[in-house]
Amino acid sequence: MERTYTKETKLVQSGNRRDKRTGAVNAPIYMSTAFEHTGVGESTGYDYARTGNPTREVLEETIAELEGGTHGFACSSGMAAIQAVLSLFSQGDEIIASVDLYGGTYRLFRQYWPQWGVDVRYVDPRDLQAVEQAIEKNTKALFIETPTNPLMQEADLDALSQLAKEHDLLMIVDNTFYTPLLQRPIEFGADIVIHSATKYLGGHNDVVAGLVVTDDDVLGEHLFNIQNGIGMTLGAFDSWLLVRGMKTLALRMEKHQQNAHAVWEMLKKHSLVTEVLYPGKGGMLSFKVQDEKLVDPLLRHLRLVTFAESLGGVESLMTYPSVQTHADIPENVRIKNGVTNELMRLSCGIENHEDIIADIEWALQEAERKTQV
Ligand SMILES: *Cc1c(COP(=O)(O)O)cnc(C)c1O
Repeated sequence: MERTYTKETKLVQSGNRRDKRTGAVNAPIYMSTAFEHTGVGESTGYDYARTGNPTREVLEETIAELEGGTHGFACSSGMAAIQAVLSLFSQGDEIIASVDLYGGTYRLFRQYWPQWGVDVRYVDPRDLQAVEQAIEKNTKALFIETPTNPLMQEADLDALSQLAKEHDLLMIVDNTFYTPLLQRPIEFGADIVIHSATKYLGGHNDVVAGLVVTDDDVLGEHLFNIQNGIGMTLGAFDSWLLVRGMKTLALRMEKHQQNAHAVWEMLKKHSLVTEVLYPGKGGMLSFKVQDEKLVDPLLRHLRLVTFAESLGGVESLMTYPSVQTHADIPENVRIKNGVTNELMRLSCGIENHEDIIADIEWALQEAERKTQV
């Protein structure tokens, strides 16, 4: 009997045993845009690289399997993946989205989607009653981030997808923060899973990419037509980088999580920190400092952790959401949602946790000395 491998094993083995001709253990990068046909009606299965590329295919099959889906699509960025999914909707449709949402997604919804005639309503997905009340006749989908960015609030995917089923809505989940190792939305009944693979899946702060997975054949066909029709596909080299990064995802996630736990313990006890937001899983946490004045000197005094706008890579990064990732959300809305000017976000890398802790402690101490709060 054939053994079904675990997610960790499948990740490591992705791309192996595919190249029958050479036996390459690492799937080669196919930099060919065109593929020869020997005659009319004859094909190797590939004809033009936007439609299908063998390297991209390794990635697409890997993510589909990992998320428990049947169709995977690799896009040129996380935003392109979101745009691909949104292209399923048409004028007059309405979508319900998490109120605490990645800033770029919010910007796309706000700036570009009105012109397509698709409305988005924002609801706290932890409040099931509010979600249900927001559903109208023309509501077509729930767009959920869990945990949310940067407030780290978790939604009940089971209950939400039940609600989605009852009202005939598509359930779309942005699974960037947890990755399929910590959460597989399709198991809870989600129809579509989205990733900014730029983050944990890639894991090395070196490639921008997005992924979409579904377990539904009709949706799969629609998404294929969108991906191929619009052409927001991921290139062969970037696909290869992503597969390479994903091979170590399981090891990395373990270390990210250990480090986040250790930093969480330190921050909880720190006198300059008023609140730490950590759901107990994953490598992301947010915290509030006592005074907004501490933020700039804190960031200036970091020597290991880098003040930069991304997450999920091996290097620890600290982000200031109110001026970076969430700057496009109107200030009153942003602050009402809890993304205040004292809120910092930390993506714990895989460095030694004592070094990360010492760096943040030092920077906080210097910030206090400089500002005398
Ligand atoms: C970064 C991010 C995106 C956008 O992905 P890009 O790869 O930057 O285009 C979408 N959703 C979440 C949760 C993200 O963190």
